[in-house]
Amino acid sequence: MKLAESMEMASKILADATKGVVFTGAGISAESGVPTYRGHGGATWSKYDPSRYANIDNFFSEPEYFWSFFKEVRSRVLSDCHPNPGHGAITELQKRGIVHRIITQNIDGLHQLAGSQNVIELHGNTRFFDCLDCGNVHSLDDIVKMQKETLVPKCQACGGVVKPRVVFFGDALDSETLQNATEAVASCDVILIIGSTLQVYPAAQLPIIVAKRKKPIIIANYGSTELDPIATCRLEGKASEILPALVDSLSDSSTNNPKPESPK
Ligand SMILES: [Zn+2]
Repeated sequence: MKLAESMEMASKILADATKGVVFTGAGISAESGVPTYRGHGGATWSKYDPSRYANIDNFFSEPEYFWSFFKEVRSRVLSDCHPNPGHGAITELQKRGIVHRIITQNIDGLHQLAGSQNVIELHGNTRFFDCLDCGNVHSLDDIVKMQKETLVPKCQACGGVVKPRVVFFGDALDSETLQNATEAVASCDVILIIGSTLQVYPAAQLPIIVAKRKKPIIIANYGSTELDPIATCRLEGKASEILPALVDSLSDSSTNNPKPESPK
């Protein structure tokens, strides 16, 4: 199917949706300049070994390593990266009542910065930091300020260990978060999958639930994905280009087919 035909099909599906779920992976963040764990982040990033900084045991046994990585690389990425038009289009779909919830594998908080609500972050995020002793919450700004004084930040209230609200390698996914994601796809009327190759659990699992319910699956990705064979339609390309075009096509079709005026 040509892209124009797929776009038309996706547009028709979305025009009728009121409980859509958007699922996003690293692809949409990469378009905002966020490198992936295994991706190509340049010299400073590759100085750090993800099997060390992203591992939960190492976070406790050698906190200096994680916090060096955070100070030198991660906090800069977070400060420098901004939502792209793909994030903005998702927010627009939400404002129009087409998309209800967003499930993301990304940990950068860009959906919220783009104004989206109801975001289920499967892997948490690196914008909020919890004290493991008293539960006091610190923002990214707090941490950046604290790291100017000391490499390993301590809780401002009690001096306890502060941990980013992110799922490390070796951590289990939060069961309530996973439950929320499962419920969202079990009751959605369409799933729009963006920038994920759908190779890992639970990313690979959630669209299967939708397929079993015989609801449409739209996959927008640059390159093929594991679940292309079950997609209702596939949109090949960048999220930051395809999604705004999709929103525009919805606007066009509503102009072409005006709702009948109510009788006077
Ligand atoms: Zn504390």
